[in-house]
Amino acid sequence: MSRKATVLFLKGQGFTTNILKSLIFVLATLCNFQIKTLILPQKYNSMNIHEYQGKEILKSFGVRVQEGIVADTPEEAVEAAKKLKETLNSDWVVVKAQIHAGGRGKGGGVKLAKNLEEVKQKATDIIGMQLVTPQTGPEGKKVNKVLIAQDVYYPGESETKEFYVSVLMDRAKGRNVIMYSTEGGMDIEEVAEKTPELIHKEEIDPKVGLQGFQTRKIAFNLGLSGAAFKDMTKFIAALYKAYEATDSSQFEINPVLKTSDDKILAVDAKVNLDENALYRHPDYAALRDESEEDPTEVEAGKSNLNYVKLDGNVGCMVNGAGLAMATMDVIKLAGGEPANFLDVGGTANAQTVKAGFNIILSDPNVKAILINIFGGIVRCDRVAQGVIDAYKEIGNIPVPIIVRLQGTNAEEAKKLIDESGLEVYSAILLKEAAALVTKVLS
Ligand code: GDP
Ligand code: MN
Repeated sequence: MSRKATVLFLKGQGFTTNILKSLIFVLATLCNFQIKTLILPQKYNSMNIHEYQGKEILKSFGVRVQEGIVADTPEEAVEAAKKLKETLNSDWVVVKAQIHAGGRGKGGGVKLAKNLEEVKQKATDIIGMQLVTPQTGPEGKKVNKVLIAQDVYYPGESETKEFYVSVLMDRAKGRNVIMYSTEGGMDIEEVAEKTPELIHKEEIDPKVGLQGFQTRKIAFNLGLSGAAFKDMTKFIAALYKAYEATDSSQFEINPVLKTSDDKILAVDAKVNLDENALYRHPDYAALRDESEEDPTEVEAGKSNLNYVKLDGNVGCMVNGAGLAMATMDVIKLAGGEPANFLDVGGTANAQTVKAGFNIILSDPNVKAILINIFGGIVRCDRVAQGVIDAYKEIGNIPVPIIVRLQGTNAEEAKKLIDESGLEVYSAILLKEAAALVTKVLS
């Protein structure tokens, strides 16, 4: 028989988390568990920023970019276009929706405008639209700003050519990698699937950094020569410097453009800053755009809760990432599906429990809540009091709550819960809690 388990790849890369992850895999395999791996997307350990912000950062490190001015209204868009005409002599401009998702071109979020009337028209169309791209999901994302950018695909001496360049970390190797391809401007996942031989990788040894021969190899493999070759080596070197200095977790520049007069520049910029290093760059906090993030996750972040929404029906609130994973498995064994991953950390007081309740209850799929706290440092009776206080403060909670408290003062905690008169079931043993989950779901 094959049993089911969920293995959640955690945001944390801490020692215990990593050991736990390996242990769970070994155990699960030995016990013939069928493992469902839920790998959290990139965003959980990185902060996403807008294209215009990413380009500002790149520019400050000497990376050439398609120049532009950000605008909130069609009037500002027209002003921006006038300014680009004055300063760069750019007759045509592109109006680019600023949302935290790629594939904007395909969804109608990138439009060429050949005169000021067209700028106004296209900015009016794009600002406020609900932009749906292959990366936004069917509900799309609301556009609040546009980048008015110079047209860099102007005709000239030679053909323009689009490339793909990204810089990222290969965790298995512990090295940064520059990934690049002649197939720029397209969906890189598709290129990777159909023509993987067209994607190249250059590994960088952290002891010596990016070397000149490597930037030349990249320019050569991209089929460049002459001035464009030289400019590409400079572009790659500056891009890598920016990646390292900003502690980024990923840069993706698609397309990198060779203009008709052989200049190399970034037309697009997907910059992901490593959240774990943000404390070293306090000025980047201002780049955060919360309107682009999942509101419940923003709320959780404010209360210092580690929350990830899932699709199930049983909400859970746990202290410690390892226990949270085990609790999710218990929910599955009890016939439910976890509605979330929520680690309240070391402090399970009334305030954190209340924030946790509110976040879990904002999900309409939740039919029951399982609180599973091990009272090691924090005493169970204090947690129980916290649960009771939070419950009373919120008022009527429409779903049954199961509280399993184990550890210091577990008996006292159970008594507190049982005598509270609230619709809260208490348990000390995990199997009792599991039985209660099964009971309230049926
Ligand atoms: P994405 O669709 O979200 O990846 O947005 P990009 O910034 O990559 O732009 C999408 C596409 O718009 C590019 O691949 C180009 O083909 C096109 N584009 C971007 N800038 C210009 C420009 O200055 N002139 C012209 N003609 N097309 C552009
Ligand atoms: Mn792009």
